[in-house]
Parts: sequence; C-alpha cells; structure tokens
Amino acid sequence: MRLDRFLCATTDLTRSLAKKALHREEVEVDGDVVKNPATQVDEHSQVAWNGERLSLVGLRYVMLHKPAGVECSARRGLYPLVRELVDLPQVERLQTVGRLDVDTTGLVLLTDDGQWSHRVTSPKRRYGKVYAVTLAEPLDGAARDEAEARFAEGLWLDGEDKPTRPAELAMRSPRVAELTLHEGKYHQVKRMFAAIGHHVVALHREAVGPLGLDGLAPGEWRELTKAEVALF
Ligand code: URA
Repeated sequence: MRLDRFLCATTDLTRSLAKKALHREEVEVDGDVVKNPATQVDEHSQVAWNGERLSLVGLRYVMLHKPAGVECSARRGLYPLVRELVDLPQVERLQTVGRLDVDTTGLVLLTDDGQWSHRVTSPKRRYGKVYAVTLAEPLDGAARDEAEARFAEGLWLDGEDKPTRPAELAMRSPRVAELTLHEGKYHQVKRMFAAIGHHVVALHREAVGPLGLDGLAPGEWRELTKAEVALF
C-alpha cells in the first residue's frame, strides 16, 4: 500500500495532513526518513511518525497457560519463548506482562499495549496475583501461623530496599499454600518462602487481578475480550 494511505489507516491524519507530515520529514520507514507519499509499504515495514511506531495490526491482549520450560523474556535464550506459543501476526511485538520463571506454570498475559501492561503491573493498583505453591516440607501448626503473620506484615528480602508489601498466605494442605502478592519482585515467591526456611518445589499462577486461567490447558491461549481488557 502507498505510504500516505498507510498513515491515514494507522493515525487520525487525513490524506493531505499525511502528505504534509511526509514533507516535514516526520516519517521514517525502516529507519530512513521518507518523503514520497507513493512509497510502497506492507505489514512488515517499520513505519514511525515522530518516532512513534505505527502498525496496521491493532493492539492485542492475550492470556496463556504457560507450561514449564518456556521463557517470558524478549529474546530467545536456552528455552523457547512464551510468545512462540501464540499464533498471531507480528507476534514478536507481544511482550509478557511481568514475568514467570522458566519452571513456573500458569497464567501469563501478553500484549503490545505498553500502557495497559503498565496498569496491570503497577504496584499502586495492587492487583492480586494468586499463586499455588508446593513446598518440599509441610508448613503447619505454629510455624504456619507465624508465616501467615510475617507475610501479612511484609518481610525483608536480601538486596531489597523495602520490605515486601502485605501478602495473604493460606495453607490449602500442609505442603500446598495459596499466596496472593500485590507486587512482583524478582523470584518473589521463592525468596519469601526461603526467608522462612522453606523450599518451593512447584509454583503455579492461578490469577492476575480478576482474570483466571478460564479452563485453558498448558500451552493454550486466547485473546481477551474487550470487557476483560477494560477490567484493568
Ligand atoms: N515468584 C517466583 O519466585 N517465581 C515466579 O515465577 C513468580 C513469582
């Protein structure tokens, strides 16, 4: 498609304003300033107007049941990437909303909407993230009561300049805990249990704020509905 049509389709510029923007050298295609409105571009072209990346594909919001052995990072390392499980165009633009460790399973959100991602993860908004935590040893009796109190108060983790925010701990059975966090520090669940002398052998995220896994099997994903996106 012609570049001026592309600009009209992806911004609120009219055809004549798009031509003016091109004339003012505000538009780059694949890193080069382009002034000719008839330049041909397609969905693979990287078009930016005043530095802002434009795309024909609208913003996407995805929930996925992460299996163990896939990574939530932006670049491929030792493991396949979570977004490689998602079959959508321009999937490389999707970023995970926060991260789960490679061995953690459960709910991961992905989006190319940076502002939405920021709202979901912002500690100010305090959306609860619910984890099912399997421990190597039972946690019961007085030790359980003490753990609940310490997690509710907040505890100091090595290398942090603030204690953890109040978190809710409930034991579902002596070795399986439900922990709700309202922030996301690095390896936070494992470090909190290590701080009270317990080792986590399995970790599964069941919910992020109002969203649960909705029956998705490991490796399955679906796009969020408009109403789900609007929850954050
Ligand atoms: N806390 C952890 O320790 N690991 C995760 O993957 C998520 C929270």
